[in-house]
Amino acid sequence: MSVSCDQPGLMSIEVAKAQISQLVNSVTQTEQIQLERALGRVLAEDIYSTIDVPGYDNSAMDGYAFRLQDLIELSTLTMVGKSFAGSPYLKHLSKGECVRIMTGAAVPDGSDTIMMQENAIAKGDQVSFTKIPKKGNDLRLAGENIKKNSLVSTIGKKLTASDIGLLSSLGCDLVRVYRKLKVAVFSTGDELMRAGDDYQAHKIYDGNRPAIIALLTKMHCEIIDFGIVADDKDELRKIVLQADAQADCVITSGGVSVGEADFVKEILAELGQIDFWKIAIKPGKPLAFGRLPNSIFFGLPGNPVSAFVIFNQIATDALKQMAGETVTFAHILPAVSVGELKKQPGRADYQRGKCYINQSGQLAVESSGAQGSGVFSSFANSNCYIVLETDRGHVQAGETVQIQLFDFTLL
Ligand code: AMP
Ligand code: MG
Repeated sequence: MSVSCDQPGLMSIEVAKAQISQLVNSVTQTEQIQLERALGRVLAEDIYSTIDVPGYDNSAMDGYAFRLQDLIELSTLTMVGKSFAGSPYLKHLSKGECVRIMTGAAVPDGSDTIMMQENAIAKGDQVSFTKIPKKGNDLRLAGENIKKNSLVSTIGKKLTASDIGLLSSLGCDLVRVYRKLKVAVFSTGDELMRAGDDYQAHKIYDGNRPAIIALLTKMHCEIIDFGIVADDKDELRKIVLQADAQADCVITSGGVSVGEADFVKEILAELGQIDFWKIAIKPGKPLAFGRLPNSIFFGLPGNPVSAFVIFNQIATDALKQMAGETVTFAHILPAVSVGELKKQPGRADYQRGKCYINQSGQLAVESSGAQGSGVFSSFANSNCYIVLETDRGHVQAGETVQIQLFDFTLL
């Protein structure tokens, strides 16, 4: 894979992701849970339908059911009964008969066509129609939605609201899912205060850990929060060992750069097989990744935007893989850049942007302003990343760029 970089030793995001994917294992333990509580959980079984859905031929309209040939021959039919959803008409239709039928009601034996009531003229029990429908009109056939024994959902599927609706329609109430991934999180840095602490000069509030915990919550992980850990080797060693003993994955932020207080590197090298990478993305760059005795380790950069971007662009897919989820491609769309975007070739940029449909009906995107790795406020009015490829330079207004939407919440 090409690593086009302005600085030696930078690793492309694709290479980093491929190496990580090779090293991580998926959880194997499963549990059976109520389908209704399974939103966001990952299926650990293939699910086949044990029934046809719908289970019987039924009407797509409120109207009348009859045999088309009778209508063609007689033009007026005699209404002999009613079929409601849940209370069908159980007799066989004889020649010249029709049945009043409601949406979802079973189609009586002997009928093959439905006509909606808007096209019917009923006088007493005599019914004629303003149109001759086609045979099979407005019939919903048994199994047309899902066939008995067909594969409906596969192992590795992260269950959405629509999956829950679909599986419920098969009568499925319990599903086997992978157990939740256990992820330990802590922030490092002597300068960090917890939100809620009294403000102190020369200190900063820890933004990374709450943000990472929020991202992990969205991913339905079980989170073990180790708080803030000082830049102290013994303290770090103690917490890393505790975290490793309890979690499948340990995620930290800060201390993985080349500063004098960046002890995380040293401790990790001592405790595990950790690589220190400079990823060719902006913001981002330093990432510690590897194996501790029991878990996978991600050491994210300290700068809040970098930590978030690396989590989104690199750690997310790895965590999905560990959770047993089938990893799909990122949702990338082309959009027209409204303004100029500053960019140096050499690293892939993940700028924060706001996309919308412009007056010509095109998907357009504009930068959300200052893009520094410490400027977390750039996320506030953004709804997407503007993904600028490694080799790309400045973008002129009107050029097409790739965007990655932050969220797909419909289902
Ligand atoms: P480091 O990689 O530890 O040198 O941190 C890089 C920059 O990110 C420094 O300006 C840190 O103060 C800042 N930083 C580190 N951790 C956090 C955090 N949890 N929340 C906010 N900023 C942080
Ligand atoms: Mg630090």
